[in-house]
Amino acid sequence: MENNFILFLRRWSVVYFIFLMIALVVLSYGGYLYRELYLKNLELSKEVSFLNNNLVLLEKDLSEATSSLATQIKINDSFVGQIKDITSNVEQLDKLSKTDRELLKKYSKVFFLSENYVPDHLLEINKVYLFNPQKTTLIHSNVYPFLGQMILAASSSDLDLKIISGYRSFSEQISLKSNYKIIYGSGANSFSADQGYSEHQLGTTVDLTTKKLGNGYVSFDKTDSYRWLLDNAHRYGFIISYPKSNFYYQFEPWHWRFVGVELATYLHQEKKYFYDVSQRIIDEYLINIFDDKTN
Ligand SMILES: [Zn+2]
Repeated sequence: MENNFILFLRRWSVVYFIFLMIALVVLSYGGYLYRELYLKNLELSKEVSFLNNNLVLLEKDLSEATSSLATQIKINDSFVGQIKDITSNVEQLDKLSKTDRELLKKYSKVFFLSENYVPDHLLEINKVYLFNPQKTTLIHSNVYPFLGQMILAASSSDLDLKIISGYRSFSEQISLKSNYKIIYGSGANSFSADQGYSEHQLGTTVDLTTKKLGNGYVSFDKTDSYRWLLDNAHRYGFIISYPKSNFYYQFEPWHWRFVGVELATYLHQEKKYFYDVSQRIIDEYLINIFDDKTN
């Protein structure tokens, strides 16, 4: 009985021992694995943190690069803007330099047009517009379209406008003035004849009449055509140089000078006359004198 019991104990202790050994091996291996994993994890954490740091640095670099790029773009844009401004200024200056400065000058007792002055380019006016088709009459080539449109607009309102004179050269004026002298004596030698003459020498000025009035255009102010011009000539760039009760010259209802649509419209709206406005203000309109804004 006792032997059996001892045998029983021995057997179980062997089983326990084996079990214990297995448990020990399993635990040791588990511990080893755990340690390995722990170390690996630690290494990976370090790597992640290193990569995170790098990412932050890269983001910072990127943000700096973006901001520097934006600054560069801004500088370039402003440079392009400056170049555009310069180009546009150069274009404006070029346009201005090609525009005859005499065209908007005020002529007075002391300021005449040079006797050598001839407009850039003159064209012969179509005879249908002339009071006297036999007389060759010239006009500044850039003014001609505006003049034609004005006469057509008047005729579409059943109003008659005929051109009695346009461009007059210096020598033509001399002979005209001597004719005046014969008719009016020394009174013709007044400042006024010179002033009107200067405007005709520009090639931008016309004397207008109607078929009925003809050479008797002194009473042109009594016509509907004259009243139409007062209301509408500015749309075609024309102004009356010597209106009623002006301080410079006798009233000349027939004498119309081209100054450009922009300036003529300004004078019309402000109810001002060309010779009342300072030359400095007038000169600002020179660059756009031939811009077509007719309607
Ligand atoms: Zn005239």
